[in-house]
Amino acid sequence: MKYRRREVGVEGGVRLVMESALSARDRVGVQDFLLLENYNSEAAFIENLRRRYREGLFYTYIGSVLVSVNPYRELEIYSKQNMERHRGVNFYEISPHIFALADNSYRALRTERRDQCILISGESGAGKTEASKKILQYYTHICPTRNNTHTIRERLLQSNPVLEAFGNAKTLRNDNSSRFGKYMDIQFDYKGAPIGGHILIYLLEKSRVAHQNHGERNFHIFYQLLEGGEEPLLKTLGLEKTNPQHYHYLVKGNCPRVSSISDKNGWKVVRNALTIIGFNEEEIQELMEIVASVLHLGNIQFGEDEEGETHVTTEPQLQYLSQLLGVDGSVLKEALTHKKIVAKGEEMISPLSLEQALSARDSLAKAIYGRAFTWLVQKLNQSLAFKDEVYYSSKCSSIIGLLDIYGFEVFQHNSFEQFCINYCNEKLQQLFIELTLKSEQEEYEAEGIVWERVEYFNNKIICDLVEEKHKGIIAILDEECLRRGDASDITFLEKLEDTLGGHAHFVTHKMANGKIRKAIGREEFRLVHYAGEVNYNVNGFLDKNNDLLYRHLKEVLCQSGNHIVSQCFHADELMDQRRPETAATQFKLSLAKLMEILMSKEPSYVRCIKPNDAKQSGRFDEVLVRHQVKYLGLMENLRVRRAGFAYRRNYEAFLERYKSLCPDTWPNWRGKLPEGVATLVKHLNYKPEEYKLGRSKIFIRFPRTLFVTEDALEV
Ligand code: ATP
Ligand code: MG
Repeated sequence: MKYRRREVGVEGGVRLVMESALSARDRVGVQDFLLLENYNSEAAFIENLRRRYREGLFYTYIGSVLVSVNPYRELEIYSKQNMERHRGVNFYEISPHIFALADNSYRALRTERRDQCILISGESGAGKTEASKKILQYYTHICPTRNNTHTIRERLLQSNPVLEAFGNAKTLRNDNSSRFGKYMDIQFDYKGAPIGGHILIYLLEKSRVAHQNHGERNFHIFYQLLEGGEEPLLKTLGLEKTNPQHYHYLVKGNCPRVSSISDKNGWKVVRNALTIIGFNEEEIQELMEIVASVLHLGNIQFGEDEEGETHVTTEPQLQYLSQLLGVDGSVLKEALTHKKIVAKGEEMISPLSLEQALSARDSLAKAIYGRAFTWLVQKLNQSLAFKDEVYYSSKCSSIIGLLDIYGFEVFQHNSFEQFCINYCNEKLQQLFIELTLKSEQEEYEAEGIVWERVEYFNNKIICDLVEEKHKGIIAILDEECLRRGDASDITFLEKLEDTLGGHAHFVTHKMANGKIRKAIGREEFRLVHYAGEVNYNVNGFLDKNNDLLYRHLKEVLCQSGNHIVSQCFHADELMDQRRPETAATQFKLSLAKLMEILMSKEPSYVRCIKPNDAKQSGRFDEVLVRHQVKYLGLMENLRVRRAGFAYRRNYEAFLERYKSLCPDTWPNWRGKLPEGVATLVKHLNYKPEEYKLGRSKIFIRFPRTLFVTEDALEV
């Protein structure tokens, strides 16, 4: 691509560079959906995406929202040279790009001193994680450096391979699917240099540790360790057998190797990343002991003796396990086959059935892995934390947050996980309404701009349905989890019906007239989400929400000789008589915190789209794309942006930039600013419908108007 570059001035200390000469290819379709003539037509929207996709143009704007289609191939557009091209360039002056959006946020952070966040959404495989990595790479490349910020840059970058090794897995949808949600703060000092970071994670899919669907794998780290681990290391871990098929927890998906993944190389990368981040050898060893102990745990089998008592039949595995976890073998054996209940100060021990023992084993594996992941994130955060507290507080830092979190999930069979994920998306839509739609309308009002109000659906009613105290779905679920006796997934469903029947967004198979609705199963409830309807099967809701680990096993782990394990399982936990928070409540609380964090920042949006299910380049499956356009709410997005004004600029900045285009404002306008701008736009022949003058800003409806004005500067 050939760019014609020219510096056109300085704004807020930032170089402004024009790159107006887009090639004919760049102009295929419209690069901003706001320019689409038939903006109400979904077909026209998709056609524009398709035309650009065919030309190899994977980014398109809706105003300031970036729509990104996964290219499924390596592109040249992410080079360092291209990063340089985007530095300090206003994003509407150059073809759409993730770097342009990143730069725009960075510039706003620097000039307006307002914290920013970039929200990346889309379904699995759409390119969210890749987008967030590109943004991070961009910042670590273009931002200025402070003496010791080299280390922090490296650590920020290297946090990704570590998190991916432990939190990503091959699924049917994505060979490198993030099985957790992630929010990362990047902290900058007053000069704009990155000085630290902080990571929050959401809902790791722990069930994957013990079970994978056909064609899917466990978390990458297991295969990386087996394939790439050095021989002496593997020996100390009792993993001489390096074929994944040897381990029960790795065989379920029948997918030991994947052509697109090099586990051997993955090991090198993650090993190196752990060192850069600051893990010492002992910590790495102990971390790998945990990974290995999960594998050995999976190979533990049970049998029943004549009296029907359950016992461990795989003694060698048990020995490895107790060695790695640093616990007594016989104590561990007892804890795997018996449960301990403390009632009224007295301890009672009762044997587990075979089925219970298997389930306790899997719960233990999930708990160890899940908590080790949380520990890992804490360690990363310690390493990313900006150490110079005094400097930090006195020189006022600023933050750009990156959110890479699961998009709406609608499968044939939707369970507790989809319920949580889709609830999260409802919350993000609420945030979008609060931060964008509402604030936009408020700004017009504050500026005294007359405009047509856009009606949009406020999904608060759905958020309330899920999270309201006492009568929301989560509250009802928790209540059922607490109730002993006959509480089951089905009684949970019945309670939902009793409490929520008749709610406009909650439906079950029973209709008000006593008839049966066939589209909803007897074990399902349907939520009418803002983006569409989803049926959830209640099977497993109670267990997943309870997420219990027998007390007996916890006691054993509290005594572990492995420092990471003993940090993950505290004795205080056993003393605490209160019931631990359920999974759904924990998630609800962490989302509420996330919303608070995001609310305090200025948002930008990246909406990712997956062009086909085959993970192939060059294939654009229209049905699949239409589905995503719907669930990402893109048409509504466009409608709202269209009704409003694409760009706004305060009078001073606008006049300063374009004053040379009018003899009356050049070289200086001596009168009042609004009058100067009015004179200028009159001279530029702006049509009344193209702009509005507010109290302190000019509002421009379409980007095209601005492009033409920018082009005029060139002449
Ligand atoms: P999940 O929700 O499952 O984590 P995701 O939205 O994070 O999915 P990614 O892992 O970012 O999806 O992308 C999936 C794959 O698509 C990548 O591994 C890569 O092969 C390809 N891909 C995504 N974005 C790009 C890009 N910009 N350039 C080249 N390839 C890409
Ligand atoms: Mg991802």
